[in-house]
Amino acid sequence: DRSPSRGLGDVYKRQRGLGDVYKRQNSFWQTYKETPADAEVPSHRLLLRAGFINKTTGGIYSYLPMATKVMSKMKKIIREEHEKIGAQEILMSFVTPSELWKSSGRWETMGPEMVRLKDRKESDFCLSATNEETITDIFKNTITSYKQLPINLFQINTKFRDEIRPRFGILRGREFIMKDAYTFHESKECLDKMYDKYFEVYSNIFKRMGLEFIAVEADGGSMADAGSKTHEFQVIADIGEDDIVTAKEINYAANIETAETVRPALNFSESSELEEIETVNLPTCKEVANLLNIPVHQTLKTLVFTASYPKKDGSIKEGHYIIMLLGDDEINEVKLVNYFKGAIKVAPTSEETLKELNLPKGYMSPLNREDISVVIDKAVNIEAGYIVGANKVNFHTKGFTVQRDIKSYKQADLRLTQSSDLAPDGKTAIEFRKGIEAGQIFQLGSKYTKSMNATVLDQNGKKINPMMGCYGIGVSRTLAATIEQHHDEDGIVWPKALAPFDIYFAVIGKKESTKELANQIYKDLRSNGYDFCLLYTS
Ligand code: ATP
Ligand code: MG
Repeated sequence: DRSPSRGLGDVYKRQRGLGDVYKRQNSFWQTYKETPADAEVPSHRLLLRAGFINKTTGGIYSYLPMATKVMSKMKKIIREEHEKIGAQEILMSFVTPSELWKSSGRWETMGPEMVRLKDRKESDFCLSATNEETITDIFKNTITSYKQLPINLFQINTKFRDEIRPRFGILRGREFIMKDAYTFHESKECLDKMYDKYFEVYSNIFKRMGLEFIAVEADGGSMADAGSKTHEFQVIADIGEDDIVTAKEINYAANIETAETVRPALNFSESSELEEIETVNLPTCKEVANLLNIPVHQTLKTLVFTASYPKKDGSIKEGHYIIMLLGDDEINEVKLVNYFKGAIKVAPTSEETLKELNLPKGYMSPLNREDISVVIDKAVNIEAGYIVGANKVNFHTKGFTVQRDIKSYKQADLRLTQSSDLAPDGKTAIEFRKGIEAGQIFQLGSKYTKSMNATVLDQNGKKINPMMGCYGIGVSRTLAATIEQHHDEDGIVWPKALAPFDIYFAVIGKKESTKELANQIYKDLRSNGYDFCLLYTS
């Protein structure tokens, strides 16, 4: 039985091998039996085997007719939903001059992800990795008064990011297709309203595409003013690179990078006199806890990080910090980086520097080290007694009590969520899911309008820097994410809205009368609005 199985219900399925036997006359569509060697995930494998994409080089792909067809369906949905909230489509230049990026300060901070090039006159340019600078420039050249606000523009265009590890085909490419929208507002209230509208637009888009997704609280990275609101739209899939923490009952969902979950109540040990104990060759909290037969959370882990801050004269100032976590907790690197606001780099302190600082790895602690700043994770009970390093190889100290034994310290939420955690309400159980980030919406604040000096006159004739929002969807990534969510052992099982065709019609045999009948059916159904694929045996 070579006809499309599962009939014409909600999902259309291309039978394995269909393209091998049936070929649409004169069409460019080749499928392959072999599993491509370097394809690690289903979407990459299936996109190559089904003849959707062609690899140009690492992380760079061409989209063949079938992929282009699916993407035009995605773009149609995206356009319709954006137009519903008055967004107007534009197309910004892909190559942008360094001056724009210098004016926002990102020429220096963007790093090697942004590909830079020179023209024949030796002027610096870059390939667009994102377009806040270009849009702010366009805004600046056009808008002068609050009366013209809000502005709401979007484009669907190529982006280039020289990813350190491009992988999974078009899921993490270097060149990819993004829908990016930007809005400008007179006030925070107006930005808030637009943000909510975009939240709905994104929800509608992914719903219409037939995807299971979760909108999660997320990290804004260096994109926005610190602490600005942002959500990611995560398509649920086993191979997703993002860990999502959810508590459905209370409508909570966050990327693990920002999740503020709490540890269930722990049995702490009482504070006591400091006492050194011998712990030969036992540098980890777990080993020490085993030796003493206590829970690991009654020990504290001491980590040391170096934060590099840029100085006005262009030099870098380094600071070393002791971070303390419960012995069985891990550091959340995103929270850590956000804690060191303004730092251009935060990294574990090198072994060399640790030696210079006289901190013995595996046995260190802030005991008697008032020369180093200390940050204690919020889950640590500052009144309880803990085992910590004795700052002496092969020794630990019992009874360490934060409040009593460190003169000055700060507390912050720096730990990684564990599956046994409770939601931020301290009551509800959480669940872990894997997701693929298909989109993200941000409140940017006035970061770019300020740095690029974009102003409008407000009601009182005073110059103000408008507030911005930006909103991205990875169109090519979402195509792959769709396949991750919708496939089985036989191949891709398209959600109806994105299937390349509504109907695949195979003509078996070479009889003229059969072909004529097929053509008649084809015409009838086409004229009734069906997207029809007519296949002939070869
Ligand atoms: P990631 O965390 O996965 O690197 P990002 O947060 O840097 O992505 P954004 O700057 O938020 O990405 O870009 C908006 C959207 O563009 C993302 O939600 C994603 O769908 C898409 N995107 C980003 N990087 C890539 C890439 N390398 N390949 C394909 N799509 C991408
Ligand atoms: Mg993102």
